[in-house]
Amino acid sequence: MIAAVLKKQGCIEIASVSDPIVAADECLIKVGHAAVCSSDIHRTFGGGAYFYPLIPGHEVSGEVLSWGNQVKGFQKGDRVAIYPLIPCHQCDSCKARAYQVCEKYDYYGSRRAGGFAEYMNVKAWNLLRLPDAIPDGAACLIESTSVVVHALNIGLASSSTKANRVAVIGGGWLGQIAVRLLQSKLPSAAVTLFDRNASKLELAKAYAATELVPNDEAWTAISEKYQNFFSHVWDAAGTALSMERSLVLTARTGVLTWLGNLTEELNLDPKLVSQILRKEIQIRGSWNATYDPSGPCDWREAVEWLSNEGYPSLEPLLSDPITLQQLPKTLEILKDKKRLHPSKTQLKVVIRGSA
Ligand SMILES: [Zn+2]
Ligand SMILES: [Zn+2]
Repeated sequence: MIAAVLKKQGCIEIASVSDPIVAADECLIKVGHAAVCSSDIHRTFGGGAYFYPLIPGHEVSGEVLSWGNQVKGFQKGDRVAIYPLIPCHQCDSCKARAYQVCEKYDYYGSRRAGGFAEYMNVKAWNLLRLPDAIPDGAACLIESTSVVVHALNIGLASSSTKANRVAVIGGGWLGQIAVRLLQSKLPSAAVTLFDRNASKLELAKAYAATELVPNDEAWTAISEKYQNFFSHVWDAAGTALSMERSLVLTARTGVLTWLGNLTEELNLDPKLVSQILRKEIQIRGSWNATYDPSGPCDWREAVEWLSNEGYPSLEPLLSDPITLQQLPKTLEILKDKKRLHPSKTQLKVVIRGSA
C-alpha cells in the first residue's frame, strides 16, 4: 500500500510499504479521512517521534474491510472512527475505565503505525462505529473534538459554582471547538475568547465575545477589565504567557483547566502563586478523552455534537481536503506557518482518502 513514512527527523515521504497484517483481535480499515494534528508537525520536524520509520496519523476514520477470528459484531463497510490510544487494560486507571490516563499505553500514529496510509490494522476495541448522521468529512474530527469535550467536562464537573462567565484562551483549532461547544452546553453563559490574532477571533464572533491581546499594553487594559472575572477558564494556547494570564482571569474559587501542551519553560512569579492560594483556584489538567466502546464517554458526546450543530460550524475552519500524496509538501508549509490556499483558513488540514 501507499503511506506517508517518516524516515528520519524532518524527512517524510510517500512510499510503497507492505500491507498491514491483521491480528486476531484487529480489523483491517480502509482509511477514509485523516486530519493533521499540530503534534504531527512536532513529530515530523521537531524530533518528536519515538522511532523511525513511522507512519504518523492519529485522527482517523474509515471503513471496515475484514477482521481477525476473535472479532465479532462488525460488517464489511461499517464506518468507524479510531480511538488512537491502546490501553494496557491492566493498570489501576484501566480497571477504573479511565483509559486516557493509562500508565502503559500504546498509540496509533506515534508508538505504532497510524493513519497517513491507505490501510490500517486496528484493534476492534478501538473502533467506534459511526451513526449515519455523522458526515464522512466530520468523522476524522471526532478525536480532536473529544479532547475539547473532555476538558470542558473536567472543568465543569470540578465546581458546583454556576458557570455563567467562562473564558477560553487561544483561538486555534481546540479553542474554536471550545467556544462552539460551550455555546451549546451552556446556552445562558457569557463566553469570551482571547487571542493575539484578529483573524482567529473573527472566526469565533458568532459564538463568543472576543478580546484581542496582541501585546503587553492590550493585556494591561484587558487584565484591568477581567481580572478575577471568570468562574471557569480553559487555556487552549499552552504558552507560558497564556498560562500565567489564565491565573489572573480566574475568579475566586474558580476552576482553571489547562489543555494546551506547553513546549517552553514556565517560571511562575510568587505573586501569581499567591493568587492561586488567595483565590482558592482549582487548577485541572486535561489529557486526551474518555472512551468506552459500549458506554457513555467523551467520544460519544463528540459524535453527537458533530452530527448536529458541530460539523457545520467547524467546516469553515478546515482546509480544502488534500490527498495523501500532497501531505509531505503540506507539512512543510504548515511548519513554516504559511497558507495552503490564500483565501481559506486552515486551522485543520484534512486528508481525503479513497474510501
Ligand atoms: Zn491530535
Ligand atoms: Zn492501563
